[in-house]
Amino acid sequence: MPELPEVETTRRGIAPHVEGREVVEVVVRQPRLRVPVPADLVDRLVGARLGPLGRRAKYLLVPVEGDEPGTLLWHLGMSGSLRIARLGELPRKHDHLDLVLDDGGILRYHDPRRFGFVDWLAGSVEADRRLARLGPEPLSESFDGERLYRLSRGRRLAVKPFVMDSAVVVGVGNIYAAEALFLAGIDPRRSAGRVSLARYLRLAAAVKEVLAAAITQGGTTLRDFVGGTGEPGYFKQRLNVYGRHGEACRRCGGELRLVTLGQRASVFCTRCQT
Ligand SMILES: [Zn+2]
Repeated sequence: MPELPEVETTRRGIAPHVEGREVVEVVVRQPRLRVPVPADLVDRLVGARLGPLGRRAKYLLVPVEGDEPGTLLWHLGMSGSLRIARLGELPRKHDHLDLVLDDGGILRYHDPRRFGFVDWLAGSVEADRRLARLGPEPLSESFDGERLYRLSRGRRLAVKPFVMDSAVVVGVGNIYAAEALFLAGIDPRRSAGRVSLARYLRLAAAVKEVLAAAITQGGTTLRDFVGGTGEPGYFKQRLNVYGRHGEACRRCGGELRLVTLGQRASVFCTRCQT
């Protein structure tokens, strides 16, 4: 599933091919995505120019300039991907939507499970109900250990689901929460309200570290966004705990344990994480 680093990698991969280009044709092969493709999307896009791509949490934001400006709010869902195809390159199965650009490039959306969507926002992006209640970006200065400490006082929820709550901070999916808690040495079962400030400072730093590493690693796959027939390179990080239950902890050699927290599998080391 595309997580924040994959969406950021997608943004960086397609931006040079999309920004400033005019849309000359829109091909909708399958309008039934999680949110149906807006009926007027073709009219809104043809002849319009695309602005600098943004991202908020796992939403890709594509500004559309022109008489009636707006923004495409694009979500990759469970299995969606965007890449740049060349004119004449035949669509594959599950290539649901094409934006044909004035230089012959095609921004092509592929999504086998169709949990992703593209929607049109006419007004302010931040006012959209899907974005308005989101917490800060994990790599921004507004996210830090003090915020985690402040928001967690009195909370009995386990620290892992707490840090995965998008109102607290966005983009900390299951993999990144598990890895960051390991790096910070915090037991994922511990009540959020009983984690000290010193530990939250370590946790925030660890969240930033694992996400930044994933984005850096994704940078090696940027060329995969253009041409070729494969999927854009979603990448596998070297993981310390996620998916490794029953295996040995890389730090102490003890056996990694699996528990379920907030309906999510959570792997951790009982010796290194307290
Ligand atoms: Zn260990």
